[in-house]
Amino acid sequence: MINLLDFNKTELVRFCGEMGEKPFRAQQLLRWIHQFGKTEFTEMSDLAKVFRQKLTECAVVQPPEIVSDYTAEDGTRKWLISAGSGNAVEMVFIPEPGRGTLCVSSQVGCALACSFCSTGRQGFNRNLSVAEIIGQVWLANRLLEADNQDRLLPDTAQTQAGKQEARRPVTNVVMMGMGEPLANFEHLVMALDLMLSDDAYGLSRRRVTVSTSGLVPALDRLRERCPVALAVSLHAPNDALRDVLVPINKKYPIRELLAACERYLPAAPRDFITFEYVMLKSVNDSVVLAQELVQVVKNVPCKLNLIPFNGFPGSGYERSDTQAIHNFRDVLMQAGIVTTIRRTRGDDIAAACGQLAGQVRDKTRRTSAYGTNQTAMVK
Ligand code: SAH
Ligand code: SF4
Repeated sequence: MINLLDFNKTELVRFCGEMGEKPFRAQQLLRWIHQFGKTEFTEMSDLAKVFRQKLTECAVVQPPEIVSDYTAEDGTRKWLISAGSGNAVEMVFIPEPGRGTLCVSSQVGCALACSFCSTGRQGFNRNLSVAEIIGQVWLANRLLEADNQDRLLPDTAQTQAGKQEARRPVTNVVMMGMGEPLANFEHLVMALDLMLSDDAYGLSRRRVTVSTSGLVPALDRLRERCPVALAVSLHAPNDALRDVLVPINKKYPIRELLAACERYLPAAPRDFITFEYVMLKSVNDSVVLAQELVQVVKNVPCKLNLIPFNGFPGSGYERSDTQAIHNFRDVLMQAGIVTTIRRTRGDDIAAACGQLAGQVRDKTRRTSAYGTNQTAMVK
């Protein structure tokens, strides 16, 4: 059976063509699947009966299964999603006034092994399929819509626009869940395509952010294929320190990474790159390193996003003190770099940045170096 969630518009047009159908059928299918959240072909009323019958015989619309659902005190929601064979990934919804951000996973685990990241500690199993990536957006919208419907006021009490709003809970997507999105490039691009497509989710490029630890050649390809907003995990101002925190730096050192960022900018939907910088106590949070960071990024139009480290069992790191984070920020701000401190959301359910662990059956055998991955599993 073909899972139609695996197809973007181009693929669906091809698929419809193979079935002797006109290209506009692909547009209708996309709308039924992604905008109305339908999985049953029998419900897709403007498709010819014969076509619906043929679809039933060869295709399905199959989102991944939800394993569990947690809600944090601050309203952050986390779902564990089955990826088969004992694997699971996580997605997190962060509600804020006027917008809802979904943090989406791209891989089961991650092979890049950043030392402060729970996912990185778990090793790597496999890339998620397009259906599993876009399926997270599909699922979150359905699940949250169902919640909103429960809370809807009687028809007379709300405007049509208000109802529309209630139907599209996910307004922003950040590829900041488990995995390195650029290491699953083709599936990522196909899923991004659906996020942006007017027939599917219709999100603007600036509302979709890819976060990467810095795979330089893939960054260049993203610029050519689908230049959405970009966040780069920098975490250190020099190669000696970054080699330790983000091991892929040995392959793509800071200078090459920053050059790729400069190449990306002309195609980017925003005129700056966001650099993420996790604040690790006594590791990368001194004023001297802040000053070094200013020198390193001064030629790249950028914003700095400081992420207070989120702990997980056995990490070996501590979060920087609030005062150290403020001092670090002040150095950057005084140099004219817009700097924000990321608010920690959902840490009571281990849903904050870097705490996503899911269930990863490591195929790289790296976890043995840290003991079993049970310790880092979802509580
Ligand atoms: N693989 C991508 C995206 C996923 S991680 C990347 O590395 O960019 C999203 C962000 O959370 C990254 O900036 C990552 O470095 C950061 N992060 C990872 N572990 C963290 C932790 N324990 N505390 C705070 N941030 C963390
Ligand atoms: Fe992978 Fe990103 Fe975690 Fe590094 S921080 S191990 S790249 S998910």
